[in-house]
Amino acid sequence: MCNEEQTTSAPLASHLEFPSLLDTLPDAVIFLDATATIQYANARAATMVAAKQHELPGTTLWQCAPQLVTTTLYQAVLTATRMRQPLQVEYHSPVTQTWLHVRLSPTSQGVAAFFSEDTEPTRLQNTLRQSERRYQDLLERISDGVGILTPEGLVLEINQPPLTHAQVRREEVVGKPLTQTPWWSYAPATQEQLRAAIAQASRGETVRFEARICPPAGRFLELTVAITPQFDANQQVESLIFIGRDITERKQAEDALHVLVDTIPQFVWIGRTDGYVEYHNQQWCNYTTMTSTQAEGNEWIQCLHPDDRQRTLDAWQTSVHAGTSYEMKYRLRNGTTGAYRWFLTRGMPHKDAQGMILHWVGTCTDISDRKHIEETLCQNQEQAHALLGSNMIGIFLAEGDEVVEANDTFLRMTGYSREDLHRRSMNWVGMTPPEYNTLTQQAHQELALHQYMMPYEKEYERKDGSRLPIVVCAVILQRNPLQIINFVLDNSAHRELEQRKDTFLSMANHELRTPLTALKLQIQLARARLFRQGLHEEAAALSRTEAPVKLLERLIGELLNGSKIQAGRLEYVQEPVDLRALLDEVAQTMQQISTTHTIVVRGSAPRTFMGDQDQLEHVFINLISNAIKYSPDATMVEVDISTAKEKTVTISVRDHGIGIPQEQREKIFERFYRAPDVSRRAIPGLGMGLYIVAEIVKQHRGTIMVECEMGKGSTFHVTLPLERQT
Ligand code: ADP
Repeated sequence: MCNEEQTTSAPLASHLEFPSLLDTLPDAVIFLDATATIQYANARAATMVAAKQHELPGTTLWQCAPQLVTTTLYQAVLTATRMRQPLQVEYHSPVTQTWLHVRLSPTSQGVAAFFSEDTEPTRLQNTLRQSERRYQDLLERISDGVGILTPEGLVLEINQPPLTHAQVRREEVVGKPLTQTPWWSYAPATQEQLRAAIAQASRGETVRFEARICPPAGRFLELTVAITPQFDANQQVESLIFIGRDITERKQAEDALHVLVDTIPQFVWIGRTDGYVEYHNQQWCNYTTMTSTQAEGNEWIQCLHPDDRQRTLDAWQTSVHAGTSYEMKYRLRNGTTGAYRWFLTRGMPHKDAQGMILHWVGTCTDISDRKHIEETLCQNQEQAHALLGSNMIGIFLAEGDEVVEANDTFLRMTGYSREDLHRRSMNWVGMTPPEYNTLTQQAHQELALHQYMMPYEKEYERKDGSRLPIVVCAVILQRNPLQIINFVLDNSAHRELEQRKDTFLSMANHELRTPLTALKLQIQLARARLFRQGLHEEAAALSRTEAPVKLLERLIGELLNGSKIQAGRLEYVQEPVDLRALLDEVAQTMQQISTTHTIVVRGSAPRTFMGDQDQLEHVFINLISNAIKYSPDATMVEVDISTAKEKTVTISVRDHGIGIPQEQREKIFERFYRAPDVSRRAIPGLGMGLYIVAEIVKQHRGTIMVECEMGKGSTFHVTLPLERQT
C-alpha cells in the first residue's frame, strides 16, 4: 500500500447523481461508509463479487465480497478511512486468482474504492507485489490452519489446508465470523469458547487454548489455538492472527497412553521438576482411595506406613535435587481395608535432548507377595542350613545307590571324608550289611509308595568295616523324584542300652526263677505235710498262695520271652495243634484262677492246624487274662472260633470291659507299652503281654487286630492261616 497525493474528498452526492455513468466504467467502484458498509456498488463490482447490484448496499464489504477481501485491502480501507488519505494497493486475490489494483479515495462519509482486475500484476510497486506473493506462498505452505480476522472475528484471510480439510471454498468462509464457520459452529460450547478467545485477543492479549473442532467431514480435530492481536501505529488492535495446530494424533496418543497407564497393574505417577507430584493413575487412586488431586504435591506421603514416610520423602527429595533416578521400597496403605502392602517404587527423570529434566515419571509395583516368598525362602534356607548343620542327625542326599551330598555329621558317623564324597565313592547300598537287605527293600517300597518312609532300625558298615547301629528314615524330593533325602540317627547308645537291658532281663529272669521254683517246691511240700497232719484248713490257706505265685511265674516268663524275642532267640516248633482242645484247656486253667468271670469257648477249629502249641497257649492265656483284667465289672469272657473258606481260622477273645481308646490301639502291641491313663495304670502289668502275643502270631504268619467300643468292651481277633508257608 502506498500514500497518494492528498486530494479533496470526492462528494458522494455527485457520484450518486451519475450511477449510470459509473455503471459504464470497466473498473469496479464501491462506496463505503466509515464502518466499511457498502453504500453503492457499480455493475462491474456486482459482477466481480458475483452478487446482484441492488443487494450490495447495506452489507459490509468484508461479508459480501470474499473475492476482494484480503488483509491488505482491510488494512488499506481502515487506514484510508481513519487517515482520510487516498491510497493505492495491489494484491493477489486467493479466491479469483487475479491481481487486483485498488485505489481508495476518501469521501465525506468513508472511502470510494476503485478495483481494476488483471491476470498480471501492474508494473507498479514491484517489491510490494513480490512481498505480497511471498506472504501468500508462505501462508499456503503452513500446514497449520492460519487465518487473519478482524477484531470482531470476521475472517479476512484463511490459508488452504483447513479449507481442503473441511472441503469448503474460501469464499464460503471469508467475510464470515469465524465462530459461524463449519469448524466451530457445530456446538454452542465450542463456539462460545472461540468467541470469548476472540474478544480477549481483541483487547490486546494473546490467547492460547485447546479446542475440539468438527469439520463437516464429521471427524473431530483436536486443535491447539493461538490468537495473536496485531496493532496499528496507534496501538489499536487492527487484526487478529489465528493459528490452529492439529494435535489430534498427539491427543489420541495421549489418550491411548492414559488408557494404558490406567490399565497396567502398576501405579503410575508424574512429578514436576521441583518434585511436586501432579498426577497419579487410576490404579493408584483405586488402591489408596485418594484422588489424584488429593495426592498432589507431597500429600501422597499420607498413604505410606508412618515408619516409612520420612526416609521415603528424604530419598525422593535427594533424587529430585540430584536429578538421579529414585528407587524405594515402602508400605502403602490400602484405603479400603486399611492393610499395608509392600511396593517397589521407581522414578526416572525424563529429559529433553539437551539433558534438561522435563518431568519425573514413576511406577509403584506391588511386591508384597514377592517379599513374602523371599522371606519364606530365606527362612527355609536358614532352616535347611540349620538342619544340615545339625551335629545330631546325619543327613545325606542319595541318587540311586550313590551318596551325592552329605552333612558333616553323616560323614563323621560313617568315617568317610568329604573327598570320598566328592569322588562319589560313598554308596549307601554297599554300606548296608546283607542281613538288612530285606528290611531296606521293604522300607524303599514304602518310600516309593508314600514319598516318605517311617524310621526303622538297621546298621551301616563304616569305612573301617565296623558296624554303626542307626535309625533311618527318608523322603523323596517332589521336584526331583530321583533324589532321596535320608535322615540318620546314631543308634549305638540306644542299642547298647537295649542290650544291657536284655542281659539284665535274662539275668533277672534266671535269678528270680530259681528262688521262685524253690518257693513253689517248699509250698507244695509244706501243703503235703499239713494234709498229712490233718491240718486241712491250713493246707487250703497255703493253697491260696499258688495263684499269686503262678502270676509271678507268668510275669517272669513274659520278661524272658520278651528279651528272647528281642534278641531273635525265641524258638518255634511246628506241630499239629488242636486249637479247640488248646482253647478249652487254656479256658479251664484261667477259670481256676478267676473267680469273677465265666469263660466261654464256642465254635470248632480244623484239626489240621500246624503251629507251636506252647507259644499259642501263651497267646490265648495272655488275651484271656487281659480280658479278665480289663473288665473288672463284667462277668463273662467269650472265645469264638471261626474259619473262612478253609483258608484261615480266627479266634476272637471278647470282653465287656473298659475298651481301648482309638489312639492307643496300634501302640498296645509295642514292647513295654502301657496306657497312660491312671485308671488303667492301676491294673498291674508289664506292658509285654501283647508285644509277645503279636510276635508269636506274626511267626505263625497270622494277624492280630482289636475292635473296641469304649466302656462296652474289646475284642481281639487272631487270624491264622491254615496252610502254613515255609
Ligand atoms: P499289660 O501287662 O499292661 O496288660 P499288655 O501288653 O498285655 O500289657 O497290654 C498293653 C496295654 O493294652 C494294657 O496296659 C492295656 O492298657 C491295654 N489292653 C490290653 N488288653 C486290653 C483289654 N482287653 N481291654 C482294655 N485294654 C487292654
